Amino acid sequence: MEREEVKAFNPYLEYVGEDLHLEGVSLEKLAREFGTPLYVYSASYIRDKIRAYKEAFPDALVCYAVKANFNPHVVAVASSEGAGADIVSGGELLCALKGGIPPERIVYAGVGKTIDEIKLAVEKEILMFNVESREELYVLNKVAGDLGKKARVAIRVNPDVDPKTHPYIATGMKKSKFGVDFETAKEEYKIADSLENLEVVGIHCHIGSQILDVSPYKEAVEKVVSLYKELREEGFNVRFIDIGGGLGIKYRPEDKEPSPKDLADQVLPILKDVEAKVILEPGRSIVGNAGVLLTEVQFVKDKGIKRFFIVDAGMNDLVRPAIYDAYHHIVPVKLNGSSYTVADVVGPICETGDFLAKDRRLREVSRGDILAVLSAGAYGMAMASHYNVRVRPAEVLVEKGNYKLIRKREGYEDLLRPFEGL
Ligand SMILES: *Cc1c(COP(=O)(O)O)cnc(C)c1O
Repeated sequence: MEREEVKAFNPYLEYVGEDLHLEGVSLEKLAREFGTPLYVYSASYIRDKIRAYKEAFPDALVCYAVKANFNPHVVAVASSEGAGADIVSGGELLCALKGGIPPERIVYAGVGKTIDEIKLAVEKEILMFNVESREELYVLNKVAGDLGKKARVAIRVNPDVDPKTHPYIATGMKKSKFGVDFETAKEEYKIADSLENLEVVGIHCHIGSQILDVSPYKEAVEKVVSLYKELREEGFNVRFIDIGGGLGIKYRPEDKEPSPKDLADQVLPILKDVEAKVILEPGRSIVGNAGVLLTEVQFVKDKGIKRFFIVDAGMNDLVRPAIYDAYHHIVPVKLNGSSYTVADVVGPICETGDFLAKDRRLREVSRGDILAVLSAGAYGMAMASHYNVRVRPAEVLVEKGNYKLIRKREGYEDLLRPFEGL
């Protein structure tokens, strides 16, 4: 069953004999060499996904959303395929630049940009700021003026469509903190236009994440295009339409993952008589199924009414199950023919919310076995923390039978470094 299943998540994931491989590299071997918990990403998968976006949207700029996975080596793979970057912080700007993405392909969203972050991005002369409030326009204008520069801006509008996803990652609805109201957006454009250190260049929207049914994009893009036409008629030189990211991925064996082409089929007909350059900001759909999290079974605990597989990856390593009640498929890295059982897969953290799977039908394991948590390439390591004073995992990139460590496992010295004076 696992044998057929895994390929549907990532075509480079396959059992060779009994051993699960990613792009021809044994995951058991990587776990033994680098220790666990360990994130492993497939570079070819990332390349294929960016190419699929570029094929579906031949004239668009694909800006990889760095927040999904900010490792500069991962960014470098995207960059080498010609991708730009969508960033939401100064730190992400530095990771994008380190990964080789030129500033003229970087767009910057975020509701709470600080002066220092804005300064850094103005100095680097990024493609555009996706501005989320009127106050931000004034601050950006001031910072740009102080630096003797002009900042290009798009205004993030809130098209008020329901992306039918988890409420924590629905971002385009009226009640959300993101963007400005669609109805009053023109006011913001007038203000932006009146500020001398700003140049109005685009419209931005991003309706949410993990969107499996692409139909809400149609409504959002229709609204954005109607605003674009009005703005053009009124003389605004808007020339970029940034439709954000959010395409969902397969987390469950039964999920059907929409392709970039499915998205294109929804929105390109609406954009076809529009001269603007289209920008896309995919994150999860580029890296999500590129990655797995390897974790070692520490203990198997039987409590009569429940069995627990206690593993060495906790909510500090992969927090999605704890905060979104997210499902991650889990398979053994070695198919040793053991029978199935039902168990919770839990981490070592002192929280009941610290689980990777609940009441899951899994093969029997014993202490020392390695499990692979699938679909862990996006919002996995990016959300890892030191909770319970644990070091964060290491990361490995594999490509065509080769592998390299792209992030060292932290040590206790890293955890203690910030505390001076004792
Ligand atoms: C998070 C985010 C994205 C990427 O979303 P995915 O669901 O990972 O594709 C794109 N744009 C903005 C503004 C974001 O905040």
